[in-house]
Amino acid sequence: MVYNWIKQLHTRLFPPICRLCLAPTGRNGGLCPECQRELPWLRHTCAGCAIPLPPETSAALCPHCQKTPSPLNDCQALFGYLDPVAQWIQQLKFQQDLTAARLLGELLAQRVPANNNNRPVTLLPVPLHRARLRTRGYNQSLEIARPLTRKGYSLKLDICRKHKATAAQSDLSARERRHNVRGAFSATRSLQGEHFLLVDDVLTTGATLNELARTLKNAGAERVEAWVIARTVDREHGGGY
Ligand SMILES: [Zn+2]
Ligand SMILES: [Zn+2]
Repeated sequence: MVYNWIKQLHTRLFPPICRLCLAPTGRNGGLCPECQRELPWLRHTCAGCAIPLPPETSAALCPHCQKTPSPLNDCQALFGYLDPVAQWIQQLKFQQDLTAARLLGELLAQRVPANNNNRPVTLLPVPLHRARLRTRGYNQSLEIARPLTRKGYSLKLDICRKHKATAAQSDLSARERRHNVRGAFSATRSLQGEHFLLVDDVLTTGATLNELARTLKNAGAERVEAWVIARTVDREHGGGY
């Protein structure tokens, strides 16, 4: 009761404001409707790698994924990797700003369709190597994925681990990225016939998600989809159009 009273007083003294424009909002750490509308949302993207497709095309896959099929059955990104989203991801990864994870996770949960199938779908935040986990203190992808448990997905953290400590992907070329993550993950049991939804913060070349999807499928997984918060959209990083 005392806690509720303190909470009410706090809300009256410090009403929740938009993270971007400081206008009053209903929720702590949230966004006002205008700022949310103006985020760099992606709409028409490749189902294999989430790169934006030209608006006039009706193809589901980009030319690259048509030629080299992705191990992912579906791949979606919420945003282009542009500010303010890029800034929030940096704050989450390097400044321990977990309020950014809550905001990004809630935005993701608004867009990801609920799992209404009879088949269970397991959420799999891209695992971190234990050394990285120790320095950061948390897995940012897990923090982003949490709100999706309200939409009929289950969260299990013992399915797959990253046993190889890889160099930071951001400093590497596309080919080096593929080589860097090769064999980095291992499934901890047979995944025969199971469905997975991978969750990650940033997609650049897709090397990490593809390697993880291949690992799960080699262990028997039937379907692996991915949702990421942001996708780089410039040519230099493997994007097109
Ligand atoms: Zn605002
Ligand atoms: Zn593609």
